[in-house]
Amino acid sequence: MSNLKHYLDGIKNGKEYFNEAFKLNVILNAICVINAAMSILLFAFGFMYLGILCGVIAAFYQVLRVFVPREIYRTILLIGFVEVWLYAGAFEIMLGRECGFSMLIIATIPAVFYFALSWNIYDNKELISFLFSVVAMAEYVCLYIYDIIHPGSVFETKDYMEITFTAVNYALFFLATIGFLMLLHWDMAQKTTTLSHKNVALNAEATKDPLTGLYNRRFMNQKLEEKMVALQEEGRIFGLIICDIDNFKKVNDTFGHESGDDVLVNCARVLMSSLRENDVVCRWGGEEFLIAIEGNKRITHDVAERIRVMIEDMVVVSHGYSIKITMTFGVCESIPGLSIDKLVEIADERLYHGKQNGKNQVVTE
Ligand code: GH3
Ligand code: MG
Ligand code: MG
Repeated sequence: MSNLKHYLDGIKNGKEYFNEAFKLNVILNAICVINAAMSILLFAFGFMYLGILCGVIAAFYQVLRVFVPREIYRTILLIGFVEVWLYAGAFEIMLGRECGFSMLIIATIPAVFYFALSWNIYDNKELISFLFSVVAMAEYVCLYIYDIIHPGSVFETKDYMEITFTAVNYALFFLATIGFLMLLHWDMAQKTTTLSHKNVALNAEATKDPLTGLYNRRFMNQKLEEKMVALQEEGRIFGLIICDIDNFKKVNDTFGHESGDDVLVNCARVLMSSLRENDVVCRWGGEEFLIAIEGNKRITHDVAERIRVMIEDMVVVSHGYSIKITMTFGVCESIPGLSIDKLVEIADERLYHGKQNGKNQVVTE
């Protein structure tokens, strides 16, 4: 039971359990079984030759299945459709209109639309579905006119036979219509889910820095604009921290670029872990990070100081080295009327002063 749930969840989430070959095999097998069952019914009603014919058609569908691995789906489908049209037309003429065989012609229309729209095998999906549907409708109309001109049937049928054939053919018509429409819906839902997953992944890629997983500068600018709007409309003050790893060039030169990357990743982790829900952190440049804090200058300073101590205490173990680093922080508070660029500039100036003054410190003035 849990297996089935897992399976259904997989389908809903866009996993393709059934490929086209599998689906075609199931459909061809189903038509084979239907023909075999019809063959038995025809024998039971005393129509020996028609029973043999249906038996041959059942076997024919098994032969058709042999070609499925060659992926000549267009040919197999065309043969299948022509067979159903010929079968329905021939049986309608031989057993009479009352038996309902012409319903099978209409049943091919949802099938045509399913294969044309959902399977990527036709260059011109709309034209193919339109043409095939027109053929089906033309045959239906021709049979209707033929029956008016030549009423009756080649073989004589009794009432109970007509009722049975009609019931079977209508049941097949409804099953095929519902089945193919469900398949179409199912395939489309799967494709939509796959697409939306790709969309989410693409979005994440577009907003995040691949090395640290932090937001990138572009996304941060967007977030800062939002914070600016909130400041102007609701008076919500925010603080900015710009921080830069001290002597990072030396880290790279001493331990190698890969260890430098590990240091960046670990710094990003510390930054992320020390922020609250509404704070945002991004990788602003090479070894520079920008943080937006919900709160005034004092709160922002305290956050920066807490991060400074955590970074100072951190030991990054990478490629056999134990690396310790420090960071310098420039802090400022949002001021109504000042642009984001200006605020970043102020924080950057303070960071610069910190660098000049011996690094590993938080500068707020
Ligand atoms: P300061 O204390 O003044 O900030 O000195 P610094 O050495 O940290 O600054 P500098 O600007 O001289 O050097 C920054 C270095 O950061 C140079 C650059 O190669 C390195 N860097 C930038 N991005 C990356 C990265 O993605 N990975 C690694 N490993 N290094 C990077
Ligand atoms: Mg630096
Ligand atoms: Mg720098």
